[in-house]
Amino acid sequence: MLLELKKEVLRVSRLAEDSGLCHHGGGNFSMVDRELNQLAITPHAESRYAIEAEDLIVMDIDGNILENRKNLSPSSETVVHLEVLKARPDITAVCHTHARYSATFAVINKPVKPVICEAFMYGAVCRVAPFELPGTIELARSAVAGLAGTQAVILQKHGLLTIGRSIYEAFLKAVYVEDVAEVCLRAASVVGYDNLDAFNDEEIVKISRHLKAS
Ligand SMILES: [Zn+2]
Repeated sequence: MLLELKKEVLRVSRLAEDSGLCHHGGGNFSMVDRELNQLAITPHAESRYAIEAEDLIVMDIDGNILENRKNLSPSSETVVHLEVLKARPDITAVCHTHARYSATFAVINKPVKPVICEAFMYGAVCRVAPFELPGTIELARSAVAGLAGTQAVILQKHGLLTIGRSIYEAFLKAVYVEDVAEVCLRAASVVGYDNLDAFNDEEIVKISRHLKAS
């Protein structure tokens, strides 16, 4: 079941490894079929080149495992994926990585400021959600709160979580956040983080409307 969806999640998880967003099975990826209310999720710590699409784990939206061909452990962040997918009916996929520029913001505990137009690809806002232990419902709730009105959130002292209407879209948003985070850090190294010339709230509303209309 869900073979096409599994193939797409695996393809994108490999893309994420190839793009340097995660390494050797790090990060985790899921996509839900909203009609069946079932999702495919990557197994824990398995290199995406060591597994096949059929090895992805299928579960219902409450986390009951329906398919697990090789009896692998599901992603350690499964609860985060489930809670985000439940809280955000506007999307179908979750991408979690420890991409290094985003992780730098997770350490300095400051939002990735929208300093270039690429930020509008994920909603312009990328906050830092307060630290909670990995793999816990508390982390899931922190992530959901941090995603309010946007599609990207940094998990404090941890990494990045992005969402999308497909797993490819969620992955692309991670790439965009990583790009904006890098530019932010490079610009901040010259003028200082507090002096970054980011788009303000009024400009964010105006530009978001313009991009939706165009
Ligand atoms: Zn993680």
